[in-house]
Parts: sequence; structure tokens; C-alpha cells
Amino acid sequence: MTPFRRIAESFELKGVGLHSGRECRLRVSPSEEGRIVLAAGGAAGNPLCGQELPIDLLGLDGSSRGSDYIFPDGSRVRTCEHILAALTGMGVWSARLEVEGGEMPALDGCSGKASEEILKYSEPCEEAGLSPFALSSPLIVGEGERFAAAFPAPEFRVTYAVRYDTPVIGTQMLDFSGGPEEFYQDIARARTFAMASEIEALRAQGMALGGSLDNAILVEESGVRASGGLRWPDEFVRHKVLDLMGDMAALGRPLHAHIVAVRAGHELHLRLAERLRRLQGAASGRCR
Ligand SMILES: [Zn+2]
Repeated sequence: MTPFRRIAESFELKGVGLHSGRECRLRVSPSEEGRIVLAAGGAAGNPLCGQELPIDLLGLDGSSRGSDYIFPDGSRVRTCEHILAALTGMGVWSARLEVEGGEMPALDGCSGKASEEILKYSEPCEEAGLSPFALSSPLIVGEGERFAAAFPAPEFRVTYAVRYDTPVIGTQMLDFSGGPEEFYQDIARARTFAMASEIEALRAQGMALGGSLDNAILVEESGVRASGGLRWPDEFVRHKVLDLMGDMAALGRPLHAHIVAVRAGHELHLRLAERLRRLQGAASGRCR
């Protein structure tokens, strides 16, 4: 498999949004701009209707258990990380993503289904849309035991460590590098998860309203509830790598760096992405 692919034919993904619980629709088509562009569609009267910008120019918010992309007027598309991981993990850096419903469909709670569709409707190509950004000096965000750092490296690589108080997860670590084949085989099907003890509080805050065993692993005190059981004993840290890959897509281009993340999450991932965006802007002489 070549490292890059481009969307050859438009396709649609539909389903409930993980947090909003609403029916959402995503249409993926070739991008004329050669970049990943987010377009908010829907019926006239929808405040999101008609907005369209490359993802690297949109605001980011990782504070609500997901990665939201924010348009200049403050409206947002929620939970973009699993779709962006599927696209960029499969080597697609140029696509138009039109979203209805204000959130990406949760699908199977990971990047598996989206990756399969991307594979079906894309074809190999020589280059990504924009040239890769090669980091030249280390960066770190976070403090103490929770941080995300980026180091110069000849290609993209992630080392991720998690530690949860519950022995059901405990400490897990994974080192990942590779192309679409490795992503599809080792990362794409790792599902999102939530602690049973926090579900009520999340729902009271308008989160996880679309969550179910069709799209998430539920971690209980004595074990997990997961459709078909766990896919790997370390499915949790694999999903964190998936989340991080999706969040690094906020740069809008491939990243040549080694990311080391310890007990991080979307907020830290996106803070790192913001810092990388600023460096990338300075390197290319653009103002931000
Ligand atoms: Zn996730």
C-alpha cells in the first residue's frame, strides 16, 4: 500500500453523534483545494449552513471529551477525531468533509468502518495535499505526570502511555509507526471507552448521549462490557493512539515528529497541535 491516497468517488457515512445523540451525516468528496476542508451543511436556517474552511484554519476545543472544530462565528462541528484519524491514518490529506447535524457520526466508536469506506472510495496517489511539516526542535505541553511532547524525527511516530486507577485498564503503553496498512491493522478498530461510574455525570453535561455498546466500551468495576469482547488486551491505549493521530490532523498536513504522550487527552493533544500550527505558520512565513 502506498503511503498516500486520494478520494476518487464521494461517499456518505450516517449515524448517531456520540455526544449529541442526534442523527448526523458526513459526505466525503474529493477536495479541489488539495487540503482537508470542513464544510457545515444542512437545511437553510441551520446556523452552520454554508460555512467551509480548511481544518488547519479552524479553532480547536478538546475540553468536552472529544475534538471540536470551531468556525469563525463560534459554531462548531463536534467529535471530529475518529474520522480525521481514519482519513489521515489511511493516507488521505485532501478531502471535503460536509457535515450535517453538528457532529461527526460515531459509527463503530473507532476508525474501522470509516477506514473501510475510505479504502473503497479512494485510490493510491504520489503525494499528500500539502508537503509534510518536519519539526526541528522539541515541544512539550502539560505538566507533571500528564503531558504530550513532540520531538524531531524523520517520520511520524507515537509513543503513548496511559494509567488508570482501575485494574481493568491499569498501565498500558504502545509505540506505533507505520503507514496505512499498519494503521488499519493495529489502530483503526480500537474503540472509544468510558467509565460506567461517570456516564451519568457526562450525560447531565450533554455528553455521551449517543453512546452505547455499539460504539463504545464500558469499563465497570470488575470488567468491561464490549460488543464481542475486547479486540486486544490493550485496546484502550490503541484508542488513545488513534485519538492522537486524529488530533494531529489539525495541522492539515503530515507531521514528521515523534510524539510522546503520557496520560494525555484531547485537550493536551490539541494544545500541542496549536503549538505545532504556530511553528508551521512561522516556518512557512504565514501570519496566524
Ligand atoms: Zn476517541
